[in-house]
Amino acid sequence: MAEILDGKAVSDFFKQEIAKEVLAITAAGNRAPHLVAILVGNDGGSKTYVEAKKKACKLVGFEGTVLYFPDTISQDELLAKVNEINDDPNIDGLIVQLPLPKHINENAVTQTIVPEKDVDGFHDINMGKLAKGDNSGYTSATPLGITMLLKYYGIETAGKHAVVIGRSNIVGRPMSILLSNSSETGNATVTLTHSRTQNLKDITLQADIIVAAIGQPNFVSADMVKPGAIVIDVGITRLDDSSKKAGWRLAGDVDFAAVEKIAGKITPVPGGVGPMTVIGLLYNTLQARKRQL
Ligand code: NDP
Repeated sequence: MAEILDGKAVSDFFKQEIAKEVLAITAAGNRAPHLVAILVGNDGGSKTYVEAKKKACKLVGFEGTVLYFPDTISQDELLAKVNEINDDPNIDGLIVQLPLPKHINENAVTQTIVPEKDVDGFHDINMGKLAKGDNSGYTSATPLGITMLLKYYGIETAGKHAVVIGRSNIVGRPMSILLSNSSETGNATVTLTHSRTQNLKDITLQADIIVAAIGQPNFVSADMVKPGAIVIDVGITRLDDSSKKAGWRLAGDVDFAAVEKIAGKITPVPGGVGPMTVIGLLYNTLQARKRQL
């Protein structure tokens, strides 16, 4: 049976570490880091994510603010708000929860956030720095959180074959770059796969590390996994489940029950990558504050 990579427990560890750094900052007479999240509209899932981020801020001693806007807000109004925050010296990090309503161009919004406050790491400058292995920028929170989890468990990536499934700009692509960069949590040989990849199973069977970021429940089956492989499940999909009080449950991209019997180590859903994504965001916000001091 695979060892469970417990993202919840590891995130609690990192929260304590971050809280210690916040205490040192405030004890020296400086204000605590301040993260602002913008939420447009009423999507239940997005609201849950944003509230979880705010709660995590409070736990580590950050100031956390959520700004709610109706989905009727115009793009210009939203960009004006972003610019206001860009200019506010008392705010270190700004995230705009995606997706945005269709009349707002997401790229226009993410590129308007100044790179220095772009703690989600979506700005072209931060993506570019990541691609060049320059760590003066910010790395997308989910891939960053995954590397922190791998490091915590002492999982060696150097020389390993990592197969990333999914090439989105927020997960798959930055994950593939991080794993391939010349760094402590990189130096892997990386194959980035997507919906046009042929013979995916032949490729995943060669993987020492699989990162699944697709959004299709149970996509990675046991016959796709080499015995002993490390399996990181990024996927989060809500599935109807009348046996649950809420009427739904969360499912990952990996058929956990079957793959757990084959893999060496595996992340569960929930309690794996999700809590580590929050840590990646807190870590970036702490860096943003420290870079100002
Ligand atoms: P996107 O929809 O942006 O990207 C999905 C990727 O999966 C695409 O690159 C797509 O390929 C690829 N894909 C789809 N079908 C297949 C297939 N059959 N075979 C191989 N590749 C395929 O999703 P995200 O990256 O934003 O998110 C992925 C999942 O991760 C979602 O479930 C999301 O909810 C979850 N997520 C979880 C987070 C966490 O904190 N745990 C954070 C962020 C996301 P193509 O490019 O060819 O279309």
